[in-house]
Amino acid sequence: MNNTRGIEEFYYFIKKVEEFHGHVCAGIAMGTKSALAAMRTLGFDPHEKKHKDLIVYVETDRCMTDAVQIVSGCTPGKRSLKYVDYGKFAATFVRLSTGEAYRVTTIKDFDKNLSVEDLLKAVAETPDEEMLLLQKVEVNIPETDLPGAPMERAICVACGERVMDGRTIFKDCKAYCITCLKGAYYSLKK
Ligand SMILES: [Zn+2]
Ligand SMILES: [Zn+2]
Repeated sequence: MNNTRGIEEFYYFIKKVEEFHGHVCAGIAMGTKSALAAMRTLGFDPHEKKHKDLIVYVETDRCMTDAVQIVSGCTPGKRSLKYVDYGKFAATFVRLSTGEAYRVTTIKDFDKNLSVEDLLKAVAETPDEEMLLLQKVEVNIPETDLPGAPMERAICVACGERVMDGRTIFKDCKAYCITCLKGAYYSLKK
């Protein structure tokens, strides 16, 4: 893609991401640029609505991830967007049918004092290879993480709640949920 078309495409998606995220910021600018580059590298057209062959792992739950979600069309509810809590500005795009995968991170810092418009212009006009690192990687995706109908369902013997997708833990030949065996992120109020 020539640079002018690349810049137009960047601004087109920035608008869509802004509607979803609520504002434009550095994370959105970099996230949009990163997602477009990774998808193009894997041969996906970001203008197509659904990409059944694409799974994305995001390494942060900050602004960037909203950009990745809008540009890729991948969402947690479709099981096509996976959140890995690394606190890093990075994401990995996987083409399911071939296993081809690229992890994208940014390698350039832009001046923090730039206005939003100037920042967008700078990000839009900087060639991908000057601000992004695309690493060819391999991702082993467990079958129980794939989109589609749940492969496994169980009832926890302790709390009686249903557990899907192989998240059950077996102890003494009985099925437990993670909460009952390892504790939860919440505690019940008395
Ligand atoms: Zn933001
Ligand atoms: Zn349980």
